[in-house]
Amino acid sequence: MRRTKHPLATRVTNLEPSGIRKVFEIANAHPEYINLSIGEPDFDMPMFLKEQGIKAILAGRNRYTPTRGIPELCRLIADQLTAEGIRFGDLFVTAGATGGLLLSIQALVGPGDEVIVPDPYFVAYRNLVYMAGGTPVGADTYPDFQIKAGAVEFLITERTRALILNSPNNPTGAIYERAELEKLVALADHHGFYIISDEVYTPFIYEGNYTSLGLLTDDAIIVNSFSKSAAMTGWRLGYVSGPAGVIDRMAMLQQYAYASTNSVAQYTALRAFEVDYSEQRGNYRRKRDLCYDMLSTRYELHKSRGSFYFFPKAPDGNATAFFERARAAGVLIIPGKDFSRRDTHFRISFAVADDLLEQGMEILLHLA
Ligand code: PLP
Repeated sequence: MRRTKHPLATRVTNLEPSGIRKVFEIANAHPEYINLSIGEPDFDMPMFLKEQGIKAILAGRNRYTPTRGIPELCRLIADQLTAEGIRFGDLFVTAGATGGLLLSIQALVGPGDEVIVPDPYFVAYRNLVYMAGGTPVGADTYPDFQIKAGAVEFLITERTRALILNSPNNPTGAIYERAELEKLVALADHHGFYIISDEVYTPFIYEGNYTSLGLLTDDAIIVNSFSKSAAMTGWRLGYVSGPAGVIDRMAMLQQYAYASTNSVAQYTALRAFEVDYSEQRGNYRRKRDLCYDMLSTRYELHKSRGSFYFFPKAPDGNATAFFERARAAGVLIIPGKDFSRRDTHFRISFAVADDLLEQGMEILLHLA
């Protein structure tokens, strides 16, 4: 007789299923829908980068690399960060920003520890905290989606180990104010927790004064990636910089978790900083303005200053009901509950072809 298996570890039983996955599957099954749910650029990786990848394969770059990444790429990233004025002790190459987030939370958070996560949030954050046995603590940023140091201070306890910031923000498009970031750095210094700063949307800033955490302190853990900047989401390549002691331990975690990142992706990325995305940024700024001009006539929304998302308030403040109505009308959006403890808003992406975007906006206006 076979004995019933013991339950799975709480690190997986605590995970919250992603509603975004569900929308992704609906989009795949129904290509006729206008899909405003997508979380990646709508342009392809540039040809010279594709060729660089092919050359790397043919040149035999198919073996293990050092855990931290090939030295040429680490040097290039260091030069790039230094040129931007970002302060850091050390860095290494990760499997996308997601890899950098996983490793930083694994390095900082243990069972019972708390991580402050501004709400709305990128879907992975809370679950990455659960995977480390920690507890995410939401810092409400409604209605303007700006993080306020005063609100964060109120949430700090003896168990606070980290605060995760994401500016430009997914899903709200907010860019955090420098003055608040300075206060948050002071709080982190005073209470001894780390700030993890997810900066993957910095290529897509349309207005406002953006400040990287790395300009304010050498003590933040800064997560970045080639996914959005070089339209390489499928290549899974990113990097993380921060204080040497933390980075060193994170690199050890990477070694035991998956040895290193993909070799061909790293050799390809040797030319990724050459990608000029200013034209795409201009296109996205135009699309953003088009969405804002149309939606603001009927919806309550904040103008996105970066990323490629809007996070308007749903009619009646019921985003799941609105998701169903939008779907019935042929438009896919993502209900706010996938990014928040509330379900009052919804996310749309404007990284979509102009004609589809306009049709999608018309339908949303009719539904308001
Ligand atoms: N961080 C944010 C805020 C994101 O929106 C995403 C992807 O959508 C990621 C991280 C993941 O990036 P990567 O593809 O580099 O793992």
